[in-house]
Amino acid sequence: AQAIVQEDTIAAIATAVGEASVAIVRVSGKGARAVGEGLVRSKRGRPVKLEARGMRYGQVVDPKTGEVIDEAIILWMPGPHSYTGEDVLELQVHGGSYAVEAVLAACLDAGARLAEPGEFTKRAFLNGRMDLSQAEAVIDLIRAKTSFAGKLAERQVRGRFGDAVRALRRRLIELEAHVEVTIDYPEHDVEDVACDHVVRVCDDMMQDVDRLIRSAELGRVLRDGIATAIVGRPNVGKSSLLNALLERDRAIVTDLPGTTRDVLEEYINLRGIPLRLIDTAGIRETDDVVERIGVARSRASMQDAELVLWVVDASEPPTPEDEVIARESAQARRIVVLNKVDRGLHPEALRLVDEMAPGRIVRVSAREGTGLDALRDAMVQTIQRDLAVDLDVSYMANQRQRRLLEEAKDDLRTARDAAAAGATLDLVAVALQSAYEKLGETIGEEAGEDLLNEIFSRFCLGK
Ligand code: GDP
Ligand code: ZN
Repeated sequence: AQAIVQEDTIAAIATAVGEASVAIVRVSGKGARAVGEGLVRSKRGRPVKLEARGMRYGQVVDPKTGEVIDEAIILWMPGPHSYTGEDVLELQVHGGSYAVEAVLAACLDAGARLAEPGEFTKRAFLNGRMDLSQAEAVIDLIRAKTSFAGKLAERQVRGRFGDAVRALRRRLIELEAHVEVTIDYPEHDVEDVACDHVVRVCDDMMQDVDRLIRSAELGRVLRDGIATAIVGRPNVGKSSLLNALLERDRAIVTDLPGTTRDVLEEYINLRGIPLRLIDTAGIRETDDVVERIGVARSRASMQDAELVLWVVDASEPPTPEDEVIARESAQARRIVVLNKVDRGLHPEALRLVDEMAPGRIVRVSAREGTGLDALRDAMVQTIQRDLAVDLDVSYMANQRQRRLLEEAKDDLRTARDAAAAGATLDLVAVALQSAYEKLGETIGEEAGEDLLNEIFSRFCLGK
């Protein structure tokens, strides 16, 4: 990668826009010190001396009018030991849009230009402060919906994915060197040994690459949540169950069948696993046009769901609608929720669920909150066992990395098969080199400018 010296100084609001007690304006680049010294004054109007990694209290003064805009805490982090690797100035000012925008405008008047989305992180990457997988993880961290996803992204920021890829690349270099030496000094028995060696190492590395590829699936699950549909005929307590799992009121609960007419989604954090809970309209035959659309959507979300909670009213004999839903959800990864157990267990209801869905049946009362922990246990178990979500991995590949990993794996297979078939070692060497480059691209070591721009433009401003 070529070193790119950034001549200009950039500035942006680094905190979320809107009502907040503190907002941060971040400035990075050669001119950051000049911007700080031009804008900040002590209470008595004297220039403030910036001290490396020190905090200073001062006032931000409009360089054009000399007016005080806001009080600020000033952080001065000279490069290279800063987020971007350049001189960085942070102005912590009062939240609320007026003051922040005015401070940002003053920075721009003092010589900075407005940063593009992700430009701070892009500079951090260009200055070698982080590899590309770390930079991408910053995006994920910003978007992380749950604590678990956040923690995983944070670990990635610290470079676990990069470590794994670099280890693979080192092994590839060794293998390539081995092959090159054999090409340069061809002797028959040496070549055979080399081929065996290539086959063994490639097999082994393909497994490691596979593990990295599978981590992308975890990444998807953590980003989007595991789609979990709550289905059942009207009035069995689906919305009540959603509220009970949310531990707050969101869905409308009424005694009128057909109240939840559309599909309602909520994110919950189930012991660190993010779920996208989908409260569906009750599935039943109906003449109401709007309700019919809701029923169709319920069926669709049941089919798309990764986990289905089929709710049955335990206190009443089942209706033919219950049996229809039992059959329709049979193919899904399903947990049966016998609800309203506080009103007693009707033997017919018990018989239906036993016949239709032997296996996972949990008895709950959404109204009284009983049985919910057992339900959560069953959900976690199902997810870990059936969805094979490995919650112990310490990194996750994103979709871009996954594609490259798949390609690297193909290259490894090509090299392996060529070696196994006794093909010429030049062929093996070419495939190994290609795998090496693909792996490098996942952490930005071979990244072209277009790719970089693509990635960094996905950031929000100020990062
Ligand atoms: P949905 O149509 O399946 O979403 O059902 P709702 O959640 O709207 O609930 C329908 C009715 O059943 C409401 O009057 C709820 O208060 C009642 N209900 C829900 N869960 C329970 C429960 O566990 N026990 C009792 N006794 N009533 C419940
Ligand atoms: Zn409902």
